Amino acid sequence: MTDVTAPLAPPPTVARWARWAFPVLAALLSACGGDRIPLSSMAPPLIRVLLGAPREAATIGVADAWEVVSVEGGSYANRGTNLLANVAAGPRGIQFAGVPTGASVLRLRPTGAFTVEMNGERLAYRGDLLLRLSGARLQLVNELDLERYVSGVIGNEIGFDQAPAALKTQAVAARTYAFSRYRSAPEAPYHVTDDTASQVYKGVSIPAWAGVTLPQLDVWTAESRGVVMTWDGKPFPTYYSSTCGGHTTDAPTAALDPMGAAPVFLGVPCAYCGPSKYFQWDETVPIQRLLDALKPRGVVAPITKLEWTKLGRGGWVAEVTVTYGPKGAKKVVPGSQFRTAAGLRSMHLKSVEVASDGSLVFHGGGWGHGVGMCQVGVQEMARKGFAPDQILRYYYPGAEFTRLY
Ligand SMILES: [Zn+2]
Repeated sequence: MTDVTAPLAPPPTVARWARWAFPVLAALLSACGGDRIPLSSMAPPLIRVLLGAPREAATIGVADAWEVVSVEGGSYANRGTNLLANVAAGPRGIQFAGVPTGASVLRLRPTGAFTVEMNGERLAYRGDLLLRLSGARLQLVNELDLERYVSGVIGNEIGFDQAPAALKTQAVAARTYAFSRYRSAPEAPYHVTDDTASQVYKGVSIPAWAGVTLPQLDVWTAESRGVVMTWDGKPFPTYYSSTCGGHTTDAPTAALDPMGAAPVFLGVPCAYCGPSKYFQWDETVPIQRLLDALKPRGVVAPITKLEWTKLGRGGWVAEVTVTYGPKGAKKVVPGSQFRTAAGLRSMHLKSVEVASDGSLVFHGGGWGHGVGMCQVGVQEMARKGFAPDQILRYYYPGAEFTRLY
């Protein structure tokens, strides 16, 4: 595909940089000798997405012509039209439609889309399917062009029913995040997962209620084709989370690695996620849940005090000190781990009190780790008429835009 649309409201930096930054950067990178991925290339890179958790077997389908070839292990090749087959991890390599292939990695190349049945639903994908033996399990990995991947992320991440500017904003963030993962380990068996641990991706499957079509998602993605956000000339992991509760926070507070772009992730006031029902909340946590979760750290009853002993930007709790046990021992717990232990929506906490039944009531706001883009804020800014580049500059201050291809 050629470049179909205008860049996302091209900031002057792109043009200014393009003239000299790429040759200079390329020279620098080759001088360092370590980086094999040029920042500027002709085609989108192929991204590998792990579909679901590794499993013993799966059912895959193809409606059109397909071929399958061994990539590693014993040689195997097959082809046909129409396919509904069980694939499984076997003692003699991957079993394909009941046949032991001897292969440890198979590549399925469909002419069109392929389907995988997972968790009771059948999802369809573009690109190739890599089947890889991993112990007694099978990894299902979708390898496809980065642009098509991004198109399969945006609706699932920001909401199919949002203003187009929200989906276009999400496209740049999703592309940048995925590209930074790809760039850090291009040869990895997979670069991202298909869930919130990376970005939610469901291939070309769009829910019936969505009200948008795949071609529409492709167009919104193509409007920023190849554009990623950079800091100091390098793409960075564009972290984002659901709701910040009025202020985003810095990366270390949420135990995230800014990967060289710390100044972008210092946290900003957010004036836009107020309409979210998670902007402010009270959450009741049974004291026993906290005790059970902190037991591996040596915390025993009674817990007599919880203190925020380190605060990050925007008042997010970076560290909780727990006073516990008959002698009042203290344990320092990183905020992100305390959040998991207590099962809280976020660590944007204001206070905690003890209810009459002894459980803890946390008063806080937001949902997620609070670093980078606030997605509910993005939805609201898009509704109010802000352009994608304005929204991205708001949540990633100081970052620049670079076109990769
Ligand atoms: Zn917000």
